[in-house]
Amino acid sequence: MAKIIDGKAIALDIRNEIAKEVQTLSQTYNKVPGLAVVIVGTRKDSQSYVGMKRKACAQVGIRSFDIDLPEDISEAVVIAKVHELNADPDVHGILVQLPLPKHINEEKVLSEISIEKDVDGFHPLNIGKLAMKGREPLFLPCTPKGCLELLSRSGISVKGKRAVVVGRSNIVGLPVSLLLLKADATVTIVHSHTPDSEKIIREADIIIAAAGQANMIKGEWIKPGAAVIDVGTNAVDDPSRKSGYRLVEVAGWLTPVPGGVGPMTVAMLLKNTLDGAKRKIVQ
Ligand code: NAP
Repeated sequence: MAKIIDGKAIALDIRNEIAKEVQTLSQTYNKVPGLAVVIVGTRKDSQSYVGMKRKACAQVGIRSFDIDLPEDISEAVVIAKVHELNADPDVHGILVQLPLPKHINEEKVLSEISIEKDVDGFHPLNIGKLAMKGREPLFLPCTPKGCLELLSRSGISVKGKRAVVVGRSNIVGLPVSLLLLKADATVTIVHSHTPDSEKIIREADIIIAAAGQANMIKGEWIKPGAAVIDVGTNAVDDPSRKSGYRLVEVAGWLTPVPGGVGPMTVAMLLKNTLDGAKRKIVQ
């Protein structure tokens, strides 16, 4: 039977570690990390994500700056707000919740965030540095960083392994494949135009499933002992049985959904904010 990678428990450990470091910063320098979370409009899902992130900040002692802007705000005003946050020394991280309303150009807004406060790690400069040998980005995108952290904290080595990433989005698939490559895995990316993805997935020691499609990966495709990190709910292959049951039988390690990658994404956001703050505060 597969070992279940308990993302919730690992994320809790990380949050406790962060809380301790925040306390030390506060005691030593009388300063705490600050995260500005910007939300535009009233989308229910976005509000719930933002609420979760702000609550998580409070739990570890990170100061949260709540910027709630109306749906009909102009792009210029959102950008002006980002500039204001860039200049605020108490703000160490800026997160703009996506999606933005259609009349606002997301790429334009995100590229205005200072690279030193880009805690989502989506700035092209941070992604570019991630892609280049010998360069270090200031921040790694949270979900990909969480996937690698789950592997390392579960004692799963990446070096020399065959890793297959299913999906190539800017926020998950592409950066997670770059991270695996940096960690010396041999990486193959499978996407919607890949013929015979089954053959490729069958060879994988590590599978990162980020296609956003249930039933995409079948239990019989998993090499016995492989580690399966399910970013969405891609790997449930038998809805009539307990979630992903056949995968549980054959995989070596498996992340559940929920309780796998999700909690890690928030923990990595807190970690990025802490790291950004340490770069500014610790002399
Ligand atoms: P996305 O932007 O929709 O990208 C999906 C990717 O999967 C695309 O690259 C697409 O290929 C590929 N794909 C789609 N169908 C495929 C198929 N049949 N075979 C192979 N590849 C296929 O999604 P995303 O933003 O990366 O998110 C992926 C999943 O992760 C979603 O379920 C999302 O909800 C979840 N997610 C979870 C967290 C978390 O914290 N737990 C965070 C972010 C995302 P093309 O490029 O060719 O279209």
